[in-house]
Amino acid sequence: MANPSILILPGDGIGPEVMTEVRKVIDWLGARGHAFDVSEDLVGGAAYDKHGVPLADETMAHAQEVDAVLLGAVGGPAYDDLDFSVKPERGLLRLRKEMDLFANLRPAQCFDALADFSSLKPELVSGLDIMIVRELTAGVYFGEPRGIFEEGNERVGINTQRYSESEIERGARAAFELAMKRDKRLCSMEKANVMESGILWREVVTEVSKDYPEVELSHMYADNGAMQLVRAPKQFDVIYTDNLFGDILSDCAAMLTGSLGMLPSASLGAPMANGRPKAMYEPVHGSAPDITGQGKANPCACILSFAMALRYSFDLGDEATRLEAAVEKVLADGVRTADLMQAEGGSPVSTSEMGDAVVAALEASL
Ligand code: NAD
Repeated sequence: MANPSILILPGDGIGPEVMTEVRKVIDWLGARGHAFDVSEDLVGGAAYDKHGVPLADETMAHAQEVDAVLLGAVGGPAYDDLDFSVKPERGLLRLRKEMDLFANLRPAQCFDALADFSSLKPELVSGLDIMIVRELTAGVYFGEPRGIFEEGNERVGINTQRYSESEIERGARAAFELAMKRDKRLCSMEKANVMESGILWREVVTEVSKDYPEVELSHMYADNGAMQLVRAPKQFDVIYTDNLFGDILSDCAAMLTGSLGMLPSASLGAPMANGRPKAMYEPVHGSAPDITGQGKANPCACILSFAMALRYSFDLGDEATRLEAAVEKVLADGVRTADLMQAEGGSPVSTSEMGDAVVAALEASL
């Protein structure tokens, strides 16, 4: 059987630096019976420099064929003045749109060694492990009518929250499937008290739940959800919410865990012919131009994104857990990139030393 395929798109800024460390993990797995067919291509400013567009058509076509796309980051000051249509971010948005990646998975996991970095008290976040599933392709960011219109003697800005049953349902199924692989608890968040789309959301999620009797479903208004996330975040397992609320709630939950350099994400679409979902994995952070080329970037977010690929695209849950445990062990041993240093000091390791430490921890785990 052919090896599973991965398309790596390192992108701009620190993207290539952190992706080099992921390559070390891929090589380590390859030497231990889990080989991948890895190809690499350009996205963002790097693609613009070569092709005049932030994502070439051939790259897009290739992304549609592989089992998973792994993306670093796009953007940077050199591209800030480009026309909107060719800005680096357009490459990323094209991938999400054309692959129809409707479920955005944002874990908020707090490694014990980093509990002091959270804005909340360590006991509230230590051991935290939440998964937020945000519907990514519909809702108020896409609904029509939209625009700024003249009305009487002033202008009005309009955006439309619009959800069809099928859009709610497919994301809900992704969220329930995830809950089945975790603690079997799902909290759906909307504002059914003031929004019709919220009423429909609640009805559809309740209907889908009949297919997942083992999962305990609860409903919460999204504003209360925001409060609960900062009051007692450990009460949640999986949260399913719409595009707008998910945008805000996932950033809020992410900050509970400390550093941007630790946050992975996955975006999943419909199953392909081989049963694997269309998928793209990427760290939450951007291209960090302020530290590019200095060996300061923390590669953990990108490495943990690859762990999500192992779990959700390649059915290698044990290897994913091993990789996450390796990252946790390295942090527990006090190995830190600069972004994870406390004010009192110590000396940080470089991007490459962090990657090496994770691979060494993987090796030691055998
Ligand atoms: P950013 O995430 O690049 O950086 C914010 C801060 O966090 C910076 O101080 C940076 O040094 C630090 N940081 C980020 N990742 C880090 C890591 N792995 N290790 C250590 N420190 C890290 O956000 P920004 O500065 O607002 O944006 C910079 C560029 O990235 C912009 O062009 C923006 O459009 C782009 N961007 C891209 C994505 C993406 O590709 N998904 C996401 C956000 C921003």
